[in-house]
This record gives sequence, structure tokens and C-alpha cells, in this order.
Amino acid sequence: MPLMPCRACGHRVDTSALACPGCGATDPAKKISRQQRDFYLFIVSTVIWIGVLGGLALCVWKIAIPWARQTINKQAAVELPPLRESPRNGDE
Ligand SMILES: [Zn+2]
Repeated sequence: MPLMPCRACGHRVDTSALACPGCGATDPAKKISRQQRDFYLFIVSTVIWIGVLGGLALCVWKIAIPWARQTINKQAAVELPPLRESPRNGDE
């Protein structure tokens, strides 16, 4: 059973200990506490989500809006009667 000094108080604790018996710090043998790790994970996941949502928003802005505009224009063109070309070699 390897022993490590507690991150907070230096008390030697087992590396698998969930809490320091001396001071009660969580994960005493690890370099950062569970709370810090959760906080870092929260920050990282937030940054990733912002990136994903930003990418999606950019995608919508760059692709979906022009596509929707094109579709609307196409539908409008179908609804309007086609322009008649003036006959060049008419009967007149
Ligand atoms: Zn401790």
C-alpha cells in the first residue's frame, strides 16, 4: 500500500484514500482535490459546449440562412407566372 503525504496537511495517507484522516481533505494523495477537478471539468465542458454551440450557430448562419433564403426565392419564383418572351419570328 503506497503512502503519500496529504496535499493539505502532509499526513501520510494511502494513495487510494478518499479522505485524509488528519484533516479530512478529499483525495489527499492526489495533486488536486475532487472539488478542483470537478471545477476544472466544469470549465472544460463549458468551453467545449460554447465551442459546439458557437460552431452550430456559425453553421446555421453560413449555410441554413442562405439555403432558406434560396428555398423561399425558389417558391416565390414558382408562384409567379413565368415571364413571356417576346416572339422574334411571330405570326405578325
Ligand atoms: Zn490532510
